[in-house]
Amino acid sequence: MNENYTPKNIDVDLKAAEVRIEWQDGEKSVLPFELLREQCPCAVCGEERKKAAEEPLFIRPMGKAELLADRPAELVGQYALQFFWIDGHNAGIYPFDYLRQLDK
Ligand SMILES: [Zn+2]
Repeated sequence: MNENYTPKNIDVDLKAAEVRIEWQDGEKSVLPFELLREQCPCAVCGEERKKAAEEPLFIRPMGKAELLADRPAELVGQYALQFFWIDGHNAGIYPFDYLRQLDK
């Protein structure tokens, strides 16, 4: 794992609906909730993304891109973040290097 892809600081901004991460190498990522939800790395969402890409008429049942106010996110070990969406979805574990490459 790339050492630089370790957050120095993580900010979950419920008002702006974005997660801001400052990385060890000084780079900063701004990740809107919308993008995080869309790119949820869990198996179910992965399947849906795949289906949506393959079948033009498949409409992906996207959940609400809103995080629980009292428990928006938690660290998973030293390598990932887990988000707690307001509709109960929380199966996605977002490794830091995944988050890092999402902001492009
Ligand atoms: Zn998911």
